[in-house]
Amino acid sequence: MSRRRQIYEGKAKILYEGPEPGTIIQYFKDDATAFNNQKKGTINGKGVLNNRISEHIFTRLGHIGVPHHFIRRLNMREQLVRQVEIVPIEIVVRNVAAGSLTKRLGVEEGTPLPRTLIEYCYKDDALGDPLIAEEHIACFGWASQDEMNEIADMAIRVNDFMCGLFAGINIRLIDFKLEFGRIWDGDYSRLLLADEISPDGCRLWDMESDEKLDKDRFRRDMGGEVEAYQEVARRLGLLPEGTANEVLDLEQHRKKRGK
Ligand code: UDP
Repeated sequence: MSRRRQIYEGKAKILYEGPEPGTIIQYFKDDATAFNNQKKGTINGKGVLNNRISEHIFTRLGHIGVPHHFIRRLNMREQLVRQVEIVPIEIVVRNVAAGSLTKRLGVEEGTPLPRTLIEYCYKDDALGDPLIAEEHIACFGWASQDEMNEIADMAIRVNDFMCGLFAGINIRLIDFKLEFGRIWDGDYSRLLLADEISPDGCRLWDMESDEKLDKDRFRRDMGGEVEAYQEVARRLGLLPEGTANEVLDLEQHRKKRGK
């Protein structure tokens, strides 16, 4: 039971009204979906891990001056963020060919791209988030040209930073998805990086073995999803050795006590 007003329930998160105007609480669920919602399941403890991983990455991005919506983590599954008007575009940044790119263009999975590729998809579940060109964005007014320039610049900065962050823990950043939102001050708006950054929306491969440490394990029925997400958190230093299960056990324990 919740005392707070629920604003929205998405595939992996629930949004609640925050304690102050202009804030929102993001609750991270264990639910996982793939292939435009056709495949559904749960990854035990995913919400706890994604909450921590996303907190870490947003905080680090803040340190290099990337404006973002994250304020603070509230508890194991919730974080307080600034309320933004989401730009209805998913920004996909690719360093290595994988996923829909390989299917669309027949490029072999794992082929390094000669330059970082940015793609845009229209955020619409009913349409299956179709790939769009910048011309569609301009034509339908989903974002201004200035906003698109800023989004592309920020996406490249985020990519450069995240490639380094993950390379430092022996993980190759293959591709990932970003979302941006606007906050308004009178007639003027500012863009903030929003949503989450976690193994749900990134492809992460072990640098040596190419082992997948992301949601592709779920998409492809490979098993070991929980362990993969835990491994990412562990390498980021978010789960001191041997504590991964303890964190989840603690949550189970609290639930049993009705807290
Ligand atoms: N992605 C995402 N949400 C989406 C679509 C893609 O987070 O709705 C992420 C996905 O996890 C991957 C990257 O964006 O890291 C590129 O995904 P792709 O276009 O290859 O799509 P998919 O293989 O998921 O169909």
